[in-house]
Amino acid sequence: MGAEAPATHEGPAIVGTAGYVSPYPYLDVLQPKMEERLARRVPATGRFCGFCFGRQRPDTAVCGFCKSDLAEVGTENEIPQQVLRLYKVKQNTEARWVHTGAMFGLTLAMGLFVYLVIWGPGFLGHPGFAFAALIGGGYLLAQFFGAFLGAQVGYRKAARKRDALWARWLESPNAEL
Ligand SMILES: [Zn+2]
Repeated sequence: MGAEAPATHEGPAIVGTAGYVSPYPYLDVLQPKMEERLARRVPATGRFCGFCFGRQRPDTAVCGFCKSDLAEVGTENEIPQQVLRLYKVKQNTEARWVHTGAMFGLTLAMGLFVYLVIWGPGFLGHPGFAFAALIGGGYLLAQFFGAFLGAQVGYRKAARKRDALWARWLESPNAEL
């Protein structure tokens, strides 16, 4: 499978809030920065760590992300497309889980709405109440299944995928991922 890459950093085995801790902690730190780069909110060129491709100041000697000695690993002017792509995979996979979870929550609320209107006894069957349940319940259920559950599962799946791609990159840089 390759998803269970061996941990390459020491420290206590803490299981993160989403039940998964990346064996490459710097990838999580780089993720938002790479997403900014993917969205073209930052310049494509600059000075990047030759190992993890984190952006560096002109005078930095040790990478703040992966702690590599920049004199040793060198620097690059751009982030390779293959490397950018693995952050994109992470972003898209996670977004899909959040979206799917939210849609599931909304579907549940709609089911509840229909149920209340057709079978709801007394005031529960009042369309006004059912409508309130649809709006309020829809919001809560979409939040719960999307932003909460979907985000956690999505993070886990997406980070594993990204980390597996990174492991492959480390094995053979510049190969198609
Ligand atoms: Zn680095």
